[in-house]
Amino acid sequence: VAAFLITHPDFAGYDDPTSDHPENSARIQAVWRELADPALADLVRLPAPARPTPEADLLRTHKPTLLSRLRRTEADPFTQLDPDTYTLAGSYRIARLATAALTDAVDEVMAGRNGPGIVAVRPPGHHATPTEAMGYCLLNNIAVAANHAIHRHHLTRVMVVDFDVHHGNGTQDIFYADPRVLFVSMHQWPFYPGTGALREFGHGAGYGTTLNVPLAAGTDDQAARRVVDELIRPAAARYSPQLVLVSAGFDGHWRDPLANWDLTLAGYDYIVRALLELAATFTQGRIVFAMEGGYDPQVLGVGMANIARAIFGLPAQDPFGEPGTQEADCSEILAALTNDHPLLNDSIDPNPESRV
Ligand SMILES: [Zn+2]
Repeated sequence: VAAFLITHPDFAGYDDPTSDHPENSARIQAVWRELADPALADLVRLPAPARPTPEADLLRTHKPTLLSRLRRTEADPFTQLDPDTYTLAGSYRIARLATAALTDAVDEVMAGRNGPGIVAVRPPGHHATPTEAMGYCLLNNIAVAANHAIHRHHLTRVMVVDFDVHHGNGTQDIFYADPRVLFVSMHQWPFYPGTGALREFGHGAGYGTTLNVPLAAGTDDQAARRVVDELIRPAAARYSPQLVLVSAGFDGHWRDPLANWDLTLAGYDYIVRALLELAATFTQGRIVFAMEGGYDPQVLGVGMANIARAIFGLPAQDPFGEPGTQEADCSEILAALTNDHPLLNDSIDPNPESRV
């Protein structure tokens, strides 16, 4: 069994100079530290991306207005794009190195080399819409990767699974009318950024290829397992993806300072191993895990290293254990989606060729 890692030293080379921003360089430093576990010595460390993604390639995902806005920030030492999102003079280049790390990983799995991929990047991407940087995200890393798979590798069914605690509103926007991407997100609800309602199913030719699982504060491992078994596995079976891309955020962990779920690292491990199984079944093992949120750096570090452990068949580590109590019942949400979601209730043909 093989697995590879793509990252870049510049992802740790910047911090918000004006505040103790939760999206800081300690996060990726913790990921690198945990991935240095000698038990993971077989992880193939591929070269860092040689150059930032060219703007011409980003235009498959983003509008020129966003790219020119980000380009203008290169002239300023510090820009506040929204209350959460800042740039330094080098941020646009670093964001384009993050997208390049993702597209390199797609090329690697499509070539069938070195097994599943782990991509450790900053800034995160899943909130960036076609036209807006927001929620710490400048460019939508996972969406750029999905579009790369579609355009360079001619795929027609890419499954994006987003288990960050926040809704991947940017990824949803970018593919809302596009049946070539099945976007599945589980997220805290109601919560930032406010999108991802249960009945947001997609639009036009993309109707039925958006699957949102909005789950209350207090959501725990048992609920996450049910989402995987009762929704994600059947959705994958119905869609039959050619590639799985994962927006891997660990901010649903009970220790996370920004959100209110109660997942443990064992819960995340269940999700990760299920996604590896899906990839083995449907995509010849083509799967890439991309780092998104996670604001307890130690949790994020161990969580990302556990992905490598899962690929190698090693047991997960969970030094943090379980939270005190609570559970949030998700039965009604799961039943509503099973009954009403057009992909899950078989009311659409998920084959994009029949729908565009
Ligand atoms: Zn998040």
